[in-house]
Amino acid sequence: MTVLLKSGLLWTGSNEIEGGWLLARDGFIVEIGSGRPPRADEIVDEPNCVAMPGLVNAHDHMYQWATRGYAPDGTLFEWLAALYPVWARIDADIVRIAARAAMARLLLAGCTLSTDHHYVFPHGRPGIFEALVETAGEHGLRFHPCRGSMSLGQSKGGLPPDSVVEDEDVILAHTEAVVSRFHDAKAGSMCRVVVAPCSPFSVTPQLMRDSAALARRHGLRLHTHLAETLDEERFCIEKFGRRPYELMEDLEWTGDDVWYAHGIHLSDAEVERVAGAKTCIAHCPSSNMRLGAGICRVEDLVRAGARVGLGVDGSASNEDANLAMEAHQALLLARARHANPNALDARTALRLATSGGAECLGRDDCGALEVGRCADVACFRVDDLAHAGIKDLVAGLALAPPARAQTVVVDGRVVVRGGRLLTADEDEIAREIGSTSARLAG
Ligand SMILES: [Zn+2]
Repeated sequence: MTVLLKSGLLWTGSNEIEGGWLLARDGFIVEIGSGRPPRADEIVDEPNCVAMPGLVNAHDHMYQWATRGYAPDGTLFEWLAALYPVWARIDADIVRIAARAAMARLLLAGCTLSTDHHYVFPHGRPGIFEALVETAGEHGLRFHPCRGSMSLGQSKGGLPPDSVVEDEDVILAHTEAVVSRFHDAKAGSMCRVVVAPCSPFSVTPQLMRDSAALARRHGLRLHTHLAETLDEERFCIEKFGRRPYELMEDLEWTGDDVWYAHGIHLSDAEVERVAGAKTCIAHCPSSNMRLGAGICRVEDLVRAGARVGLGVDGSASNEDANLAMEAHQALLLARARHANPNALDARTALRLATSGGAECLGRDDCGALEVGRCADVACFRVDDLAHAGIKDLVAGLALAPPARAQTVVVDGRVVVRGGRLLTADEDEIAREIGSTSARLAG
């Protein structure tokens, strides 16, 4: 099965090709060119679009689509305290409906590969992880679900209430089970499982160590929240006598198989050490601004050689899932932080949203349009009212981020066409998530 995608401008991540096209066979890019294209079984022609690598979402909590708009002015810890009791009531049906909404929104905004950090597993509610994996399969999204976890409840000095934490043996056994059932390590994989204790204030150091050992036994990647707020820094210093990143070093949670969400409150020396360890950072600008968490030192990290991707974070602290908007926010925020318009240029911001995210997720077969890589492509209209006439069309996608994609291809399969999802009914999902959110709110 071959698919030919033609566009007004093809941006590969490093080159721009006027009237460019790419040919995909069995999910992989086999040819890129311009001028007369080869024959194909299916042809998608988008002369009014810029085609670019599909966007990669390096941090998310999709179940949160059912709890948007809570604690609208709270700090991270206040927001969490308001939400933990609501999250304690989720089950597989709610997670499935929330994930349907989150994944639909991601795909419609040009995302082709996403992680999901799921760490709330209320006792006696089976099937949550399965619901996430099945929904990604139905929508046609390339997916890296994290088996997240919380084990340090309030009675042991942690932040979450005891009702939402799990026994550590249960966490590790369930992680092994979902790895053997769902993880696919092959090139072109549509599903890889990640091991992801939630944060230093919600799991024990022992669970962090055991999780790292489990992941390294199976060749899996590791993910957690780190250095998101000054409250977290104070918590770590008081409880463990360590700054958050020092704690990660003690626990062997550094290296090229690890990526952290946020990485905001890092010292100069820690920025250098993160870069030296080849650990990746998923920058989530909208969420960080929404919670007043601080500003990630993206420019410093990039200059130090660190690998940085972008994430939408959970929609309870973003209220959307638009990666192009995150590239826009990252660009503006870096320039504001440094009072310098050269702090982050548009193409670098778009690379954070594509190849940077792919590095976070350990995917050297995604994140750029090159022969041999996965055929994951997003096409954005540049003839609409928002973009028509913009002088530099690629820069325009970060300066004036598109609301939605025109065509999206994942694994060589067209999943969005004409700005509409082909794999699910957007209006039905909106109705479902509306009633589900209301029911969960009580
Ligand atoms: Zn998060």
